[in-house]
Amino acid sequence: MTAEPFRDADPLSTDPPTSPAAAAVTPVMAQYHEIKRAHPGCLLFFRMGDFYELFFEDAQEAAPALDIALTKRGRHDGADIPMCGVPVHTVDAYLARLIRAGFKVAICDQIEDPAEARRRGAKGPVRRAVVRVVTAGTLTEDGLLDARRHNYLAGIAEAGGELGLAWLDLSTGSFSLAPTADASLAADLARIMPGEILLPERLLARPALFEVLGDWKAALTPLANPRFDSETARRRLESFYGVKALDGFGSFGRAEIAAAGALVDYVALTQQVGGQGGAPHLAPPVRVAPDTVMQIDAATRRNLELATTLSGERRGSLIATIDRTLTGPGARLLAEQLAAPLTLPEAIGARLDAVQFFLDRIDMRTALRQRLRRCPDIERALSRLSLGRGGPRDLAALRDGLGETALIRGILLAPGFVPLPELLARAETRLGEHGALVDRLGRALAAELPLFTRDGGFIAPAYAAELDQLRELRDASRRTIAALQARYAEATGIASLRIRHNNVIGYYIEVSAANVERQGGKLGADFIHRQTMAGALRYTTVELSELASKIASAADRALALELRLFDDLAGDIIAGRERVAAAAAALATLDLAASHAECAAETGWTRPEIEAGPAFEISGGRHPTVEAALAGKDSFIANDCVLGEDRIWLVTGPNMAGKSTFLRQNALILILAQIGSFVPARAARIGIVDRLFSRVGAADDLARGRSTFMVEMVETAAILNQAGPRSFVILDEIGRGTATYDGLSIAWAALEHLHEVNRCRALFATHYHELTALAAKLPALACHTMRVKEWQGDVVFLHEVAPGTADRSYGIHVAKLAGLPEGVTARATEVLEILEKGEEAGALARLADDLPLFRAARRPLPEPSAPRAAPLEDLLREARPDELTPREALELLYRLKAMLEE
Ligand code: ADP
Repeated sequence: MTAEPFRDADPLSTDPPTSPAAAAVTPVMAQYHEIKRAHPGCLLFFRMGDFYELFFEDAQEAAPALDIALTKRGRHDGADIPMCGVPVHTVDAYLARLIRAGFKVAICDQIEDPAEARRRGAKGPVRRAVVRVVTAGTLTEDGLLDARRHNYLAGIAEAGGELGLAWLDLSTGSFSLAPTADASLAADLARIMPGEILLPERLLARPALFEVLGDWKAALTPLANPRFDSETARRRLESFYGVKALDGFGSFGRAEIAAAGALVDYVALTQQVGGQGGAPHLAPPVRVAPDTVMQIDAATRRNLELATTLSGERRGSLIATIDRTLTGPGARLLAEQLAAPLTLPEAIGARLDAVQFFLDRIDMRTALRQRLRRCPDIERALSRLSLGRGGPRDLAALRDGLGETALIRGILLAPGFVPLPELLARAETRLGEHGALVDRLGRALAAELPLFTRDGGFIAPAYAAELDQLRELRDASRRTIAALQARYAEATGIASLRIRHNNVIGYYIEVSAANVERQGGKLGADFIHRQTMAGALRYTTVELSELASKIASAADRALALELRLFDDLAGDIIAGRERVAAAAAALATLDLAASHAECAAETGWTRPEIEAGPAFEISGGRHPTVEAALAGKDSFIANDCVLGEDRIWLVTGPNMAGKSTFLRQNALILILAQIGSFVPARAARIGIVDRLFSRVGAADDLARGRSTFMVEMVETAAILNQAGPRSFVILDEIGRGTATYDGLSIAWAALEHLHEVNRCRALFATHYHELTALAAKLPALACHTMRVKEWQGDVVFLHEVAPGTADRSYGIHVAKLAGLPEGVTARATEVLEILEKGEEAGALARLADDLPLFRAARRPLPEPSAPRAAPLEDLLREARPDELTPREALELLYRLKAMLEE
């Protein structure tokens, strides 16, 4: 397959394409082809001994992607068969790379022991079957997942003319549904950020979805249309949850059910291939009603750098700045909540109460966080156990994580601390009671645990008497072998004789060739020769063979017993998985509330007041990430923002004065407030925002063939078409990407539209100070400006927002700061003066006549600028202002100045 799912065949289809000439192939290759045909669209990892091998095109595609050697094996149709392989014990790392590169992988294992197959006298290759299809949306292994993010498998379906969305995280069991629509699908997907999206083939052809599906192309898995039938889906969900009707879970639209059913179907087909593997643990589906979360489109999320910075990193993003969680589930809950700020004041208030509670109780918070640090990721451990791919360490994770719940309850309920706020009280109840299970796991598990059950040795001594006996038998025989070695050494007179063990021939006696020589080439009648190595000979004896088989059979029986005990323990956990999942959710809630409190305590952030009305009053607001970045060097200047009668603030000021920072900080403050976090401000009163829009510093979107200006206009159009009275809009510099008068006119008209039609709260930054004339006409518009000081011909940015308007753009001053040649800035000042006198037509003609080349000749540049101007100019020429973060722009400025001074 390729990374372009549009071209993929349905990977679940069971219709085999026409078979290649099967003539004259080896039995193993015939088996390979048969299995490969049943899994089109997947790379086939074909188990051969200790390796997974890939053949033909699979090998040719995977070898470069994995950076491994492409070799060959045998011939097919007269040509060499390309092959590559990866060792079984490190398969996770290779899978991770292939999945990231957009592949799906079918894992084909040997489902019988080769020795057994030989014993049963079977002709032909050992039995093999695909046990699982690994896809981007169905991962469960820690090595393939980011512990701090959910990995969602999403499904889109259509029924009755409506679109529905469902998404689940197989690694934690969370499962949600929501209605969606052509227009809101992009924002919904941007919120969920699925790793893989299932959809019926026919939706690919729907023009209204072209663009959004194009953005998600690498994650799409189109499937045959009938897989999204809503009636089949309903029945499938009912049988999965063992209920007569889904109504008990809530009322869902048909399209949502169709999407959810397709997900459950896909999970069964990829994870429980051929009925193997356990049923996944999936919580009952929860419906996210469309008006309960703030709508934020993809561009706004990107622009505000909520989950990643514009360059795609987590460091420097809003989440990285506020995340103090200590557990995987806590971190994932934060990511989920940050992606979906709430719109219900009571729900936000409940979260804030929990944060306040922990903020006020530093000892309790510290004690709680100490316990949380010891909590492994029980959510993901539980899900692996449910799917039958858990290991001893997953049991240990549950022992440790559930073990902490009792201690954590003790901390929450310590005398003097009651009553808990509602959210925490509910979490305390959901922690549950796991004493018996924890105790059992504590007794069952050994101190050192192997990764896989098949390695054995994970059950502690004294847990099962039968196991102890088998181990004693094995160990006694081992001691006998040690005694045997001493006896043989004495009998042969060879002190260096050793009894050793390897996986190929088992136990053997090894003597150096020289010693055998000295004995005349023979050791004694009972020594049976087995192997001759370089410099040594290997023997066995009847006595040793008997002992060895006793050990082997005791070890086999011990391992089989351990596996049974493992299944018992896992079965117990799975039987009570709702309670384990509830405890995990409770731990996540506690972790997150304590994380917000910890962050507030460190930063001095305050609790926002949330209300239903249109208020927006921030006093002493700061930008959380810019402030964190400046910490220690410069201090961040706090600014107020009060949108009341004046719903729209027009913010003017030169470049670099802090306009963008101010706009973004207010958007970030309201997001933080509505996720139930404290905010970087002295005080904040915020009336619920239901949609947040931004248009800030876009870059060319060349991949979609759009210029900066086009991107800017597309984003502006979305805002003007969609924003309503409860929306909040930040618009940074619209109309910059075109000619001055064009741009000014567009900005002018957009501002009028926001004021008259959208009637939303908005911050509008511009360097067109001409727009301030509108303040006289538009009653809800107020003018503010970033204060700057002129000092000895230079500008100094004060980063203060004050009422009023900028008297000019200071563009030439900034250009000077940036190191433009003096001749250019002097000339620009002249041009500006003439333009500002307002007699453009005649003046421009005169200016054009008065070619700067002549003037430059008359007034030469200050010498010797040539050697230093070149690198300066080069640097400037290479700079792409649209792609710079404010911080990078500032750094560039410093560099330019430093070069100037050199
Ligand atoms: P503009 O949008 O007006 O061009 P920016 O918002 O990009 O300006 O700000 C430029 C730089 O000024 C920022 O990167 C930041 O380092 C600094 N800055 C902005 N606002 C403040 C502030 N309130 N306090 C301190 N520094 C600030």
